[in-house]
Amino acid sequence: MTSRTPFDAVVRERIVLGEHLVRLVLEAPEGFATTGVPDEWVALTVPGQFQTRYYTVRSVVDGLLTIDVVVHEQGLVTEWAQTGCVGDRVGLSAPKGSFALPADAGWIVLAGDLTALPAMARIAEYSAGQVQGLPVEIHAEVPDGPMPDYVAAPVRWHHADSGTSDLAAIVHGISWPEGPGYFWMAGESAQMRDIRRHARHDLGWDTRHYDVMGYWSGSRGRQARQVDPGPIYARGRALGQSDEQIWAEYDAARGRA
Ligand SMILES: Cc1cc2nc3c(=O)[nH]c(=O)nc-3n(C[C@H](O)[C@H](O)[C@H](O)COP(=O)(O)OP(=O)(O)OC[C@H]3O[C@@H](n4cnc5c(N)ncnc54)[C@H](O)[C@@H]3O)c2cc1C
Repeated sequence: MTSRTPFDAVVRERIVLGEHLVRLVLEAPEGFATTGVPDEWVALTVPGQFQTRYYTVRSVVDGLLTIDVVVHEQGLVTEWAQTGCVGDRVGLSAPKGSFALPADAGWIVLAGDLTALPAMARIAEYSAGQVQGLPVEIHAEVPDGPMPDYVAAPVRWHHADSGTSDLAAIVHGISWPEGPGYFWMAGESAQMRDIRRHARHDLGWDTRHYDVMGYWSGSRGRQARQVDPGPIYARGRALGQSDEQIWAEYDAARGRA
C-alpha cells in the first residue's frame, strides 16, 4: 500500500520496556488531535518505506505521542524499532478508534496479546476515568511474564511463546459476568475469527456487546496484506454495519492480494 499519511513526526526517544516491547516517543505533529477513543490507532510509515503498519496511540501528552512496538522475529517496523531510530522522521495517519461501550453494559472484559496491551492499558485508564464503577477484567497473553507497571488495573497474565498465540483458548475459559457487558479483544487474526464465532453463536451476544479485532496474521507462507482499517471502519459505520461485520471485512481485505 502506498503511504498517504498526512502527518510527519520525529522520534524523540526510544525506551526498551521489555525483551519484546519498545516504546517510541514522537513529537506530536501540529494539528494531530486525539479522537479520545481509547483504542485509537495510527498508520505508521517508517523511513525508506511506502507500506504502513498500524500502532495504537498509547498516549498523547504535552505534545508527545507514544506508541509501543512489539519486537517479533522479522518485519518492517519491528526491525526499524530495534535500530537507532531516534531522530528519524516517520509518517502518521490521523487516528481512528473502534471501542464503543454500549449504554447498557454492566461490565467490561478485555483480552489480547502483547500487540493489544497498549490499547488495553489505555482502555483501563479510560474506564477508570469515564465509566467509574464498571468492573473491568483484563486477560493479557504475553511472552515475558507479568508487566504490572504497564497497566493501571489488575491483569490476569497468561504466558505466550513469542510468535504464537493461544488467546482463543484463554477466552473460551472465561467465566462471564451476569447481564449485558462489553467484550473487547485484539490479537492474532485466526484467534479472533474463532472468538467472533464463539461470541455470536455460543454466547449469543448482540454485536454491540463485543469488538474483536485481528491485529496481525500469524499464518505462515504468504504474508497478509496490510490494509488500512480506517476507511473500512468509516465505510462500515456509514453503512450501519456492526463491528463484527466491519472487522470480518477487514480480515477478508487483508487476505486478498
Ligand atoms: C488497529 C491496530 C492496532 C495495532 N496496535 C499495535 C500496537 O500498539 N503495537 C504493536 O506492536 N502492534 C500493533 N498492531 C499490530 C501490528 O500492526 C502488526 O503486528 C504489524 O504486522 C507489525 O509490522 P511489522 O512491520 O513489524 O511486521 P510485518 O512486516 O507486518 O510482518 C512480518 C512477519 O511478522 C509476522 N508478525 C507480524 N506481527 C507479529 C507479531 N506481533 N508477533 C509475531 N509475528 C508477527 C507476520 O505474520 C509476518 O509474517 C496493531 C494492528 C492494528 C490493526
